[in-house]
Amino acid sequence: MQKELPSNTADKETPMGDYASKSWWLESLPEPIVANAPLAGAQRADVAVIGGGYTGLSTAYHLKRLDPAIDVRVVEADVCGFGASGRNGGFSMTLFGLTKGITRLRFDDQRARAAHRYMEAAVDGLHELITENRIDCDYERSGYLLVGTSPAQVRRVEHDFRIIEKWGAKGIERWERQRLAEEFHTDYYRIGWFEPRCGILQPAKLARGMKALAEKLGAQIYENSPVTGFSKNAGGGYIVKTPAGELRSEYLVLATNAYSVLFPQLRALQRPVFTHIVMSEPLSASRMESIGWHCRAGVEDARDLIHYYRLTRDNRIVMGGGDVSLTYGADLDRDLNEKTFAHLERHVTEVFPQLRGIRFTHRWGGPVSVTLDMAPVIGFLGADRKAIFSLGCIGHGVSLTHYNGLTIAELIAGRRTWRTGMFFVGRKVLPWPSDPVTHGAVHVIRGFMKLEDRIYYK
Ligand SMILES: Cc1cc2nc3c(=O)[nH]c(=O)nc-3n(C[C@H](O)[C@H](O)[C@H](O)COP(=O)(O)OP(=O)(O)OC[C@H]3O[C@@H](n4cnc5c(N)ncnc54)[C@H](O)[C@@H]3O)c2cc1C
Repeated sequence: MQKELPSNTADKETPMGDYASKSWWLESLPEPIVANAPLAGAQRADVAVIGGGYTGLSTAYHLKRLDPAIDVRVVEADVCGFGASGRNGGFSMTLFGLTKGITRLRFDDQRARAAHRYMEAAVDGLHELITENRIDCDYERSGYLLVGTSPAQVRRVEHDFRIIEKWGAKGIERWERQRLAEEFHTDYYRIGWFEPRCGILQPAKLARGMKALAEKLGAQIYENSPVTGFSKNAGGGYIVKTPAGELRSEYLVLATNAYSVLFPQLRALQRPVFTHIVMSEPLSASRMESIGWHCRAGVEDARDLIHYYRLTRDNRIVMGGGDVSLTYGADLDRDLNEKTFAHLERHVTEVFPQLRGIRFTHRWGGPVSVTLDMAPVIGFLGADRKAIFSLGCIGHGVSLTHYNGLTIAELIAGRRTWRTGMFFVGRKVLPWPSDPVTHGAVHVIRGFMKLEDRIYYK
């Protein structure tokens, strides 16, 4: 039976094993999760992967596809999908970093364009992965719609249109007010950027489906196995330690995303930032009719602190975004924020006033990994390039992490491809300053974004 309003409250410490309260996606899986046995004793593999989210599972899956003889083992602290992969909004989308404009500023036009191409391939790749393997994850290729809801947001969307026009990128439609009104019964939207190749899915089902797929190809997965540390062996290779065992391997993949803050070797390269989600009861047929939303696309607005929202298969509204929260150090279970939840619930009826009175049944949050320049990286620890990490996918990692898994597998298997030659593979990442400085700076930036949204982008 579905639980009523959150089993999770802001002050409650949720134990690591309490994954069902971490998102409705995890809670509503068709089968209860039965965790695999933990890593025990002294083990050996060719490749050890730390973290059983999309990045780790996709790496394991692609390694086995590239070379079935490779012995790859995934070591997951909780259960696969416990992290962002089991809690996200479920948008499969082409965004790399924050926006196209910012990626161009940070790198250059050519690299931003290459990143867009990589992301288009990532979205198409995930589509093929799901459909060819028949992963049951409520996948709908219903598109992605970026909307401008104020004159300032319209200027932002127009700016992105000018960029892709210059690139000659295809497959993106411009929706004017009339087209938007055919799809949605709201006068909130002024302009739309519609990308039909994108889609929505049930993220936890995808994570569990990827686990099953990797296992089917022969990858071994240990759950309830928190890695307490890893180090390089004197004779080459790596050793990964958990409370009950250790795993020695030639290659090491660090797929711990925002949790990477727990490892001294990765701590300064990224910071965990929480984004939050609320979800309504299923909308009745008449309520659905009142709002339209015929295309069923996932929608994002063009504010600084964006809102992202979508329908579930049973027509609940999932609304995420708004303000983000930060954490000091390792406190990665403080993932709830009552103020943001209230803001998100209000925003549903701002967009669709006809939904006044709907009930919200679930609220949750999760950590995303943020690099100082907000751009992703696949990087290496050590000169032999045998320890590989992937960080900084922020809130745009569903398709990206799956594709990065392929890129990491190619790096390990010694295949040189256009993916392994991407500019963000092996790029230098600027370290975040110490915690107090970071928090001070981020609070100032966040405050500025909130103010800008209130007076400019609302
Ligand atoms: C609320 C929310 C909404 C989002 N919405 C979207 C969206 O709609 N579209 C989109 O593209 N992206 C979205 N994202 C981002 C996306 O979910 C992530 O980029 C992606 O899931 C990251 O996958 P990952 O495998 O790298 O990390 P994770 O899924 O976080 O996996 C890391 C894993 O490492 C494990 N771990 C941690 N510490 C250890 C340890 N010591 N030992 C072993 N294992 C460990 C964790 O338990 C976890 O399972 C969202 C994220 C959040 C939180």
